[in-house]
Amino acid sequence: MAGYTPMILQYLAIKEETKDAFLFFRLGDFYEMFFEDAIAASRELEITLTGREGGGEQKIPMCGVPYHSAENYIIRLVEKGYKVAICEQVEDPAAAKGVVRREIVRIITPGTVMESKSLEGKTNNFIAAVVRVGGMLGLSACDLSTGELYVTSFPEQIEALIDEINVYQPSELVGDSELIDKVQAAAVWNRQLPLTAREPMAEEKLTEQYGEAELNRLSGARLRAVSVLTGYLDETQKRSLGHVRTINSYEPNQYMILDHYTRRNLELTETVRDRNKKGSLLWLLDRTQTSMGARLLRRWIDKPLLSSTTVNARLDAVETLYLNLILRDDIRAELQPIYDLERLVGRVAFGNANGRDLNALRSSLRRIPRLTALCEQSGSVVLRAIVEGTDDCADLADLIETVLVEEPPVAIREGGLIRAGYDAYLDQLREASMNGKKWLAELERQEREATGVKSLKIGYNKVFGYYLEVSKANLSMLPEGRYERKQTLANAERFVTPELKEKERLILEAEDKMVDLEYERFIELRDHLALHLHRLQKAAAVIAELDVYQSLATVSAERRFVRPQVSEGYDLHIEEGKHPVVEAMMDGTPFIANGTALHKDEQWMLLITGPNMAGKSTYMRQVALICIMAQLGCFVPAKSAAVPLIDRIFTRIGAADDLIGGQSTFMVEMKDIQLMTEKATANSLVIIDELGRGTSTGEGMAIAQAVIEYVHHHIGCKALVSTHFHELAHLEESLPSLTNARMAVEESGDNVTFLRKLIPGAASTSYGIYCAQLAGLPQSIIGRAYELLEETEKPVAAKSGITDGPAYNLSKIQPDKVAEARGIVQLSIFDEPAAAVEAETPRRKANPKAEQLAEQLRKLDLFNLTPMQAMQWLNDMKNKL
Ligand code: ADP
Repeated sequence: MAGYTPMILQYLAIKEETKDAFLFFRLGDFYEMFFEDAIAASRELEITLTGREGGGEQKIPMCGVPYHSAENYIIRLVEKGYKVAICEQVEDPAAAKGVVRREIVRIITPGTVMESKSLEGKTNNFIAAVVRVGGMLGLSACDLSTGELYVTSFPEQIEALIDEINVYQPSELVGDSELIDKVQAAAVWNRQLPLTAREPMAEEKLTEQYGEAELNRLSGARLRAVSVLTGYLDETQKRSLGHVRTINSYEPNQYMILDHYTRRNLELTETVRDRNKKGSLLWLLDRTQTSMGARLLRRWIDKPLLSSTTVNARLDAVETLYLNLILRDDIRAELQPIYDLERLVGRVAFGNANGRDLNALRSSLRRIPRLTALCEQSGSVVLRAIVEGTDDCADLADLIETVLVEEPPVAIREGGLIRAGYDAYLDQLREASMNGKKWLAELERQEREATGVKSLKIGYNKVFGYYLEVSKANLSMLPEGRYERKQTLANAERFVTPELKEKERLILEAEDKMVDLEYERFIELRDHLALHLHRLQKAAAVIAELDVYQSLATVSAERRFVRPQVSEGYDLHIEEGKHPVVEAMMDGTPFIANGTALHKDEQWMLLITGPNMAGKSTYMRQVALICIMAQLGCFVPAKSAAVPLIDRIFTRIGAADDLIGGQSTFMVEMKDIQLMTEKATANSLVIIDELGRGTSTGEGMAIAQAVIEYVHHHIGCKALVSTHFHELAHLEESLPSLTNARMAVEESGDNVTFLRKLIPGAASTSYGIYCAQLAGLPQSIIGRAYELLEETEKPVAAKSGITDGPAYNLSKIQPDKVAEARGIVQLSIFDEPAAAVEAETPRRKANPKAEQLAEQLRKLDLFNLTPMQAMQWLNDMKNKL
């Protein structure tokens, strides 16, 4: 290090404090980066890499961004998953002896950004901490922008932890280093997630943040989780976080448990295909008017309740608004102009709220009295209870109104913020500056008169201050000695006079003082508001809740949902149920309703058979969604519904993203089933689509049967299972609580029509080949498949003992097509098409490579390959050709 300049040495010392962040080192009007940071940042931000002499043997790599546009660069880095440490000059460079003192004032990380540009209004931005204490795992999650903080704990099991982490979809994770590594190894994240190992913070500091009463409610893993998280926030933000004071501690079993795959499969908040909300349950139910409401709705969908009292209280509120269209519309109208109070409060606490933010706060608060009045006068006990005692924070709104002008600028250090009449001295200064300007106008008039130069004018610039400007053509008209020349332009000269300079001093002084004073008054106001954060947060919470109620009521009324009867019992009874999202996405074709009756004393397991595309998985998902909707407090798409409290939903529905983790479909299925066998209780709901696919028919069927028997004998929970092994239908005879159901289809001639109606009994065939044909597979394949089916299916069908008609009646499904296809089935895919029929045998022999390849292809176990392995296989084969 020897030889570096003092400034570079200072840089290196500060960089030591935060090795994992880009260090934005303030140098005058720029943030500069050096060494590796500079090289990496120039690549990530596409800015020029330069060099700087720093006393070493070689130039030091350097790149920089202007401080006034730094925010965009910082956000770009943070969005890529990096951390950025902001290092400012903390003393006046003019007063500094030697190198100006510099300090890191804040570290911006993906989980702690406060910059509104990078925050999505309708979603939270969580940072989570994971810890282990004894045999318990603790998880806490905080959204710094809103001040929400949650914490929970459960017996050690990494899957449970990952499921809970996924509820928050954090953009950053901190915690015990070993645990973080484990989580990293076990989880599949859909974005880059920075992980940081951290220890708990000092106890006194923690108490300072939350107070003893709040902390005394925590112990063990929960306490540690909150401590680690708060420590990290403290270390990165370096300021008091007045809006993070309330710790929401909950038991995992207060809510329905939904694992990651189930959330995805049921498309609760995003669809499987893309991370887009459209097509998800959230998309359907979100008619909220405020961002706070939208975030709360998401949380309700993520965490359906397990208490019938609470669920019914929510349903009561929804029902009131459901029945009263006028009230609902009035409430919507009042909510609509309300800004994101939670985030505004967050900015007040964080110290980055500007004048516009405070006015937004004020105008939002002004809506509260009318909102509460609407609820109080509604005649509804429920709505009255929600708004009872709501503090409309009128004193705070009044204060903001007294202090701030109607339309303040974005900047808070350039004046123009404070209302006239609020501060006497400020008014005086304003007067002085105004008078000064009047005096200037008068001077301009006088000078024009005295010189006869009509175009003479008074101007201002930062370097020379106020001046008189005269064009070159008119210079001769100026009297000698009266003006002092200051600046020469291409076609004009600028002058000053002693009295102009004197007035300028007064004007500028007043303006400087004004700007300082306005800033001071503004900060006073903001600090005052910061003393009332808790009140503001409570008001925001009431608004958010009302917003969610009106949203659920609006959708329920528009889509004619009904109030479910939610109770503690076992039986699930749905009359004419529908899949709410599939129905909403349909373009005019009617959705066919289907009932569900799963009763303890009768049948509580359904084995559903039917062709692909018949509507099996839609039906099973619809049952799960109706339960979730009921338990979050929403009306449901049915004619009537009695829903028991479901403690957990397991789904095993093949989804495209199984492959992302590099696991085979079959393995994933088996793991899910294993989890189900371990965790399901009699109050759970199990949904398995296409049980046993992904391995050989014999094995698949055997496993499917064994799993069904296990659920039946050992778990006793409501279960919907679909299978393409129609041979399993015989289970109905040996398992008293299982009943067969199938999706009705209508066959006529060449066509199969899906009726989407669930009817009793088992399907006799899965029509898989018919489906393949619909999908447009070549006739050669279709014909060959029918032929193979005919050969293999007969003995199996005979063994399964299905008696309701022949297992496959090919001619019935496809009389002409089959024959036509058979005519060309002899064609090998590896042969040239056409004219090959009679030459089939010799040609094959003549091409041993192709034959070998075909053989290997036939043997290939596609379902047990990862995408990478498949690519590798293709590559190997290509090389062999
Ligand atoms: P399966 O699981 O039997 O292969 P799906 O449940 O995926 O079939 O349904 C296939 C398609 O049929 C769905 O995408 C949907 O558009 C339509 N569908 C399913 N159920 C219904 C229904 N009850 N009414 C109308 N259309 C339906």
